[in-house]
Amino acid sequence: MSCHDIGLGMNSVVRTVMTLLDEGRITKDAAKVLVNSCRNGVNWCDGNEGEAIDYITGCICGRCFNKIPKGEKLYYVYDTSFSLSDTDKLFDYTLNGRLCKECFDLVINEFCNDEKAGERERNYIEEHQKEEDYLSTGEYPDHNNKYRWPRD
Ligand SMILES: [Zn+2]
Repeated sequence: MSCHDIGLGMNSVVRTVMTLLDEGRITKDAAKVLVNSCRNGVNWCDGNEGEAIDYITGCICGRCFNKIPKGEKLYYVYDTSFSLSDTDKLFDYTLNGRLCKECFDLVINEFCNDEKAGERERNYIEEHQKEEDYLSTGEYPDHNNKYRWPRD
């Protein structure tokens, strides 16, 4: 049985990091380092990295770290046709396993050493997944892994 509390706690820190980034109080590079530290932080307990970065899963590209507008493509590396060990490597290459179209093609083409691989995998995802699985929500979630955020 894994611990969910540490993921909830780390995700609340990720929320603060993104607020500071959006307010221009920290750099994008600093935000990426802090978010990655939160993701790794769950391993001080039997936590889930996915819960720690839930806040940025729906709308942030894990490479360029841009907020992707609602309805634009934001592909999930686990939806590719690759093996689980390969998708695990791709997940570790990103902050959250999600990639905008431009970053997806860069990462997948390099990973496969094939300049058509990104396009091929995007088509595969769009054929096999529901739209909501590869489109950005455009917004941060209004909950912490289904729990209400405390009042600020
Ligand atoms: Zn990107």
